[in-house]
Amino acid sequence: VELSADVVVIGAGGAGMAAGVSAHQNGATVVILEKMAKVGGNTISAGGAMNAVDEGSETAIKNKDSVALHFKQTYEGGDKKGDEVLVKTLVENAWASVEWLQSMGMKFLPEPFTVTGGLWPRAHKPVDPVGTGFFKTYNAYIEANKGIEVRLNTKAEKLIVENGKVVGVIATGKTGNKITVKANKGVVIASGGFGQNVAMRQEFNKQWPTLDETIKSTNHPGATGDGIMMGREVNAAIVQMENIQLLPLGDPETGSLSGNIETDVEKRIYVNIEGNRFVDEGARRDTMTLALFNQPQKKLWIVVDAHSYPEGTVKNNFNETIDGLVADGRAFKGETVEELAEKIGVPPANLAATVAEFNKHVASKTPDAFGRTLYSVPLDKGPYYAGARVPTVHHTMGGIKIDAETHVIDVNGNVIPGLYAAGEVTGGIHGSNRLGGNALTDITVFGRIAGANAAQGK
Ligand code: ADP
Repeated sequence: VELSADVVVIGAGGAGMAAGVSAHQNGATVVILEKMAKVGGNTISAGGAMNAVDEGSETAIKNKDSVALHFKQTYEGGDKKGDEVLVKTLVENAWASVEWLQSMGMKFLPEPFTVTGGLWPRAHKPVDPVGTGFFKTYNAYIEANKGIEVRLNTKAEKLIVENGKVVGVIATGKTGNKITVKANKGVVIASGGFGQNVAMRQEFNKQWPTLDETIKSTNHPGATGDGIMMGREVNAAIVQMENIQLLPLGDPETGSLSGNIETDVEKRIYVNIEGNRFVDEGARRDTMTLALFNQPQKKLWIVVDAHSYPEGTVKNNFNETIDGLVADGRAFKGETVEELAEKIGVPPANLAATVAEFNKHVASKTPDAFGRTLYSVPLDKGPYYAGARVPTVHHTMGGIKIDAETHVIDVNGNVIPGLYAAGEVTGGIHGSNRLGGNALTDITVFGRIAGANAAQGK
């Protein structure tokens, strides 16, 4: 099969869809190639928190937030290893991206919240569950406008280069058939990360005790690093591959984030199987996960109370009710802290003492022994709930090097003509640790830029 379009996008996750729509808005015809049987990638099952500061707004003033603080926390939160120009691009275009999504009909809750490892209440939560709101929005745009074709079950294999310029993609269809897709203006790689590629994880990991197959991933099965390999074949610079983000929040069986009972950072604690806290639960994601690796069985219990779930029908961030999770044996419930402890096999006296000590600090709002400073309400209102969690591979922060215009940069520091990249496939934005809530911002901001620039051949 021979196809052609102005802009060819590899991957129909959040970055690819943003790029496709943005390219179309800039006058291009678009083909989006997706190797899986459906759109969405990791984005569709992401918790859904999108960091952005509406500078000077009432909310930002109330929360003492600013674009400058978002920059500082992102840059310093990644140990200053991220590219400052890319971080600046991210934070400065974040709110405009929220507004862009809103302009296409996407709805967000009015008040931002603090997502795990997000450090500040600036995460905007879509009204639709998890990441589905993004795709509802993009699909509605695609249906209403001619000129964007999404081809499922179509795996990009190789970039076509002519006279130093990327001019298309060779792909494989469902039956193994070869498909050549010509790009009149540009190709955008938006194929996501490599969280499910154990060999790549093992090859690049330096930070974690191990990332072998005993450590599961939150990622969808297609997150195998294909785009990084395709980029490497055309001499793209591949950067910061050792920066692999884990969360302390994986389902013990599957590694998935579903079943996670925490609703927001302020209202929950983590205890180990002995019933003791071991880390500041408002800390960075890497800090919390490294601490979890050092606990017995590498396992923690999230403990919350009726402040998080005033009714059994209240849902977690993954669209599951707490009653349903308890019925399925994925969460446990006790009218008192001691009863909860019995149910999860944790020494009741320990858990009671841990909760009492925590509540003292909630009352005084003073940093506790772990340095925790984020508090709202005490854990004092039954029923109490607990859910088990283990370390899980979440986001790969290394990948293809880009500039602020999303041009792909080669190993000699030059732009590769015709080639753009956006989203988790890129490297060097988040440094050694990505702030919670910055991924959806990243993919939307850079996806949008990539689509616009590719459409204009800029
Ligand atoms: P991002 O957050 O950067 O958008 P996602 O994981 O959400 O990343 O989306 C990446 C998408 O790219 C997934 O839907 C994945 O299946 C798709 N993909 C990965 N490799 C290929 C490939 N070789 N060809 C086509 N699509 C791919």
